[in-house]
Amino acid sequence: METRVQNRKPDMPKVLFVASECAPYAKCGGLGDVVASLPKALRQRGVDARVAIPLYDSIDRAKYGLSEEPACLVPCGGGEVNGCGVWRGTNDGDVPVWFVEHNRYFARGGIYDDHGAEFGDNAFRFGLLCMAAAQVCRDRNWIPDVVHVHDWPTAVLPALLDAWRKAGTPLGRAASVLTIHNQGYQGYYHPSALAYLGLGPGYFTPDGLEAWGKINLLKGGINYADAVTTVSPTYAKEILAEPGGNGLSAYLQKRGADFEGILNGADYDVWNPENDRAIPAHYRAESLIGKTLCKRELQSQIGLAEDALAPLFGIVSRLAAQKGMGLMRETLPQALAETNLQLVALGSGDAADEAFFRGLAAAFPGRVGVEIGYSEELSHRIQAGSDFFLMPSLFEPCGLSQLYALRYGSLPVVHATGGLEDTVEQYNEGEGTGTGFKFYAPTAAAFRDAISWAVDTWRARPSHVTMMRERAMQVRFDWATSAQRYLEIYRRAMAKHGA
Ligand code: ADP
Repeated sequence: METRVQNRKPDMPKVLFVASECAPYAKCGGLGDVVASLPKALRQRGVDARVAIPLYDSIDRAKYGLSEEPACLVPCGGGEVNGCGVWRGTNDGDVPVWFVEHNRYFARGGIYDDHGAEFGDNAFRFGLLCMAAAQVCRDRNWIPDVVHVHDWPTAVLPALLDAWRKAGTPLGRAASVLTIHNQGYQGYYHPSALAYLGLGPGYFTPDGLEAWGKINLLKGGINYADAVTTVSPTYAKEILAEPGGNGLSAYLQKRGADFEGILNGADYDVWNPENDRAIPAHYRAESLIGKTLCKRELQSQIGLAEDALAPLFGIVSRLAAQKGMGLMRETLPQALAETNLQLVALGSGDAADEAFFRGLAAAFPGRVGVEIGYSEELSHRIQAGSDFFLMPSLFEPCGLSQLYALRYGSLPVVHATGGLEDTVEQYNEGEGTGTGFKFYAPTAAAFRDAISWAVDTWRARPSHVTMMRERAMQVRFDWATSAQRYLEIYRRAMAKHGA
């Protein structure tokens, strides 16, 4: 596991990411992208950043060249000891990743659920991941300065570190940072998991993990982490108040200056229309002919009329209420009936939403193409081939898809919330500036107006579309800037423990 560790600068911290997802091994959404990209960006600055995730059944050990390391014995609460296999890999040629193998907890179909039915033992599953990740470090005598955890699955680790610190265990000297990728999911479970985690009754309090007689894992992370971040400045403001805080705003407020929003970056090594191998033609801001070809290919692939003049709107999304599916259902049939727009949608999730999109494709043959499922390749082709990109999310902590859309010159039509507000610049009809079309009230009428505005601009002011595309493709949301901010947060967190 000593991959390029010699590159670490001596004054830089050692940082362990513990998470439930990491692209490309296991990914449901943006969290998986961040756990891949941020450690990479940190390592480029000389930080010894490493990752620990579960070895899910779905992870192909041969494909990713994983190798087995000595197993570890994980001491849990009540004297129980769990044996875990340990595998290692190298992500993107540089980032060391440990995979925790435990058949009972991780050798099953889904990451969090089985086709929508949440696993009842998630607090135990991810609790074991946290404890095993610590044990792996101890066994290898690699003690991180900072443990960086992500969302509810690993949010219990700061409380564990607190307990270990009090018990004088070596890992207890690590500072902890929690990043909230989505405040909507908090991890509510039966308190019996506390005993398994070795956390005594002192942690089952309203200022600890207790909420309504259960444990709330995210709340525990907010209360015990040395620093808490979320993934955009606007989302940080939104969750500091209700209803955005989903009941936890008061606890975030208590964190004062220890809580802040840092915008995610996009990985432009993966998302770049100048060299993307998933798309049929390459293009750049100054020369968009390749984009025209990508549009035609996409239309043909997905069964749309090969009409260069029809504005093509793309959707790549989890099909969930958060993503504005209600607004889509209310708006899209009418927008399709009233304009000549075309639509291509890729996504999976809620069965009723899947049925809605299938129905839309049946109702508008040649104008709506739908693929239910998950496809990295098609997601790139949609970004490259579409003219506009729809993201009417009710809330959006950061959102990565709109960042990719901007890079590919597919102008986002978005609800101005969270990271969408922070990353999309509103179209200015007088000057032809801006990078997308924002609507401010999450209503069908406002969404319909934004779509009409985009269609109207396409038809009546094509030069503005070209100018906006150029501008959108030149904007950068780099990890380098955000990695520097995280580094500052790590140092502040370490200072709390005298480092
Ligand atoms: P969230 O994390 O809430 O799902 P983001 O916009 O932050 O939303 O990240 C979504 C990520 O998942 C993007 O990389 C997007 O391309 C990808 N994605 C979502 N649905 C699909 C799908 N059906 N097929 C391929 N990629 C998808």
